[in-house]
Amino acid sequence: MHIAIIGSGPAGFYAAEALLKRTDTEVHVDMFERLPTPFGLVRGGVAPDHQNIKAVTRVYDKTAARPTFRFLGNVRLGRDVTVEDLRQHYHQIVYAVGNEDDRRLGIPGEGIARCTPATVFIGWYNGHPDYRHARIDLSVSRVAVVGNGNVAIDAARILLRAPAELEKTDIAAHALEALRNSKVREVFILGRRGPEQASFTPVELKELGEMEDVDPILAPDELAGCTIPAAEGSSQQEKNLKILQSFTVRQPAANRKKLHLRFRVSPTEVIADSNGNVCGLALEKNRLETLPDGTVRAHGTGEMEILEVGMVLPAVGFAAERIAGVPYDEKARTIANEDGRVVDPINRAAIPGEYVVGWARTGPRGLIGSHKPASVHVVEHMMTDGAGLEARALPDSSAILSLLHQRGVQVVSFDDWKRLDDIEVVRGELRGAARDKIVDIEAMLSILNRR
Ligand SMILES: Cc1cc2nc3c(=O)[nH]c(=O)nc-3n(C[C@H](O)[C@H](O)[C@H](O)COP(=O)(O)OP(=O)(O)OC[C@H]3O[C@@H](n4cnc5c(N)ncnc54)[C@H](O)[C@@H]3O)c2cc1C
Repeated sequence: MHIAIIGSGPAGFYAAEALLKRTDTEVHVDMFERLPTPFGLVRGGVAPDHQNIKAVTRVYDKTAARPTFRFLGNVRLGRDVTVEDLRQHYHQIVYAVGNEDDRRLGIPGEGIARCTPATVFIGWYNGHPDYRHARIDLSVSRVAVVGNGNVAIDAARILLRAPAELEKTDIAAHALEALRNSKVREVFILGRRGPEQASFTPVELKELGEMEDVDPILAPDELAGCTIPAAEGSSQQEKNLKILQSFTVRQPAANRKKLHLRFRVSPTEVIADSNGNVCGLALEKNRLETLPDGTVRAHGTGEMEILEVGMVLPAVGFAAERIAGVPYDEKARTIANEDGRVVDPINRAAIPGEYVVGWARTGPRGLIGSHKPASVHVVEHMMTDGAGLEARALPDSSAILSLLHQRGVQVVSFDDWKRLDDIEVVRGELRGAARDKIVDIEAMLSILNRR
């Protein structure tokens, strides 16, 4: 079986591993990745102060070392290669393209200077080539981060961390420099619903209380009406409430930075000053309603306030990008699928030989480890559906490389990536860091051309 996997994040690598481990069929995997570098959000999303999490790439290295695996980096589906090309060259296709679009607040003023989607800020500090030129102006003292998930926590933590705590990490050099000169002293994390509905994970929430030089601040009445467990509790919600309660009794020191947590508020307008930069965020207080199915909805009360901030980072979710030829579910904003089998979004009929894994399948839910069983599950479908498919004759496996070459695409192999990896690690040693990332695709390609 010859299988194309599009995307080299965790879901793509776990699918590759499950396929290459099969003993019933010999599987050849070609993994296409739009960047010259692998690993998706492990490289470009996971925060630099979580280096231990990035060690998971060692597992992916082992998969990449298998003899029937090829990495085709710097190849974008929809630009360099089409779905039709893939159908001709492979028996099956797995889309593992993640969620590269962000959801918007949909309020007036959202596009003004210093109102920047958290995705951009995160890509910028992680050295993602798409965001290396993002204008992140840290000359302001107060920032609002809108959203109650781990992405909001990451953005707030990186804004407030002492730069010395980041020096040894793989944070992009341009971001480290900007953070050294940052004037940010206060960050507000804003949630539309209550503490009980926040989707922070407890480890990440607790970390907010453990940073050097930062006090988390939560007014006790924010927890009014919440059932706080007596002991630590076992569910995410109970653990979060316990941690939040501990924040309410902390005495903030005057000279330390401040991280405020605010609940039951919705932004209604980003306010600009006379230069067109953010100077405030209009907030409406919410009341919560529990629906019969248990979901909790926020409704505006009409009570307004203006939060004076100089920057707004919306972190309100992600969506899969539309790729030409790939069926898209407009409601879920994922690749249209039934349990990982790609389907026509209108009549829900399966598209033979096409599958989807990871965030492109489910939306932005789940940590890295959760993709392993989920990708294995989809691979089981592939093997059930694909019995006998290998009898279909395909072009020679070098044909796809020739096609890309004809189109002027410089394909980056895994060995090429390893050369870039070595260079980044050596550059990193100069500042005592895990690595110093190359953030420019042209620079990466020109290094690789110097053989
Ligand atoms: C800011 C942030 C921080 C996070 N921190 C943690 C954490 O600390 N711990 C944890 O466990 N989880 C964390 N997560 C979650 C974790 O990163 C995701 O669960 C996981 O990366 C999703 O895997 P994926 O393979 O579906 O997508 P991704 O990791 O996004 O990989 C998708 C890949 O597809 C490529 N691609 C996209 N379009 C194309 C195309 N057209 N052609 C070719 N290639 C394409 C992309 O370049 C990318 O490499 C974090 C997520 C975010 C956003």
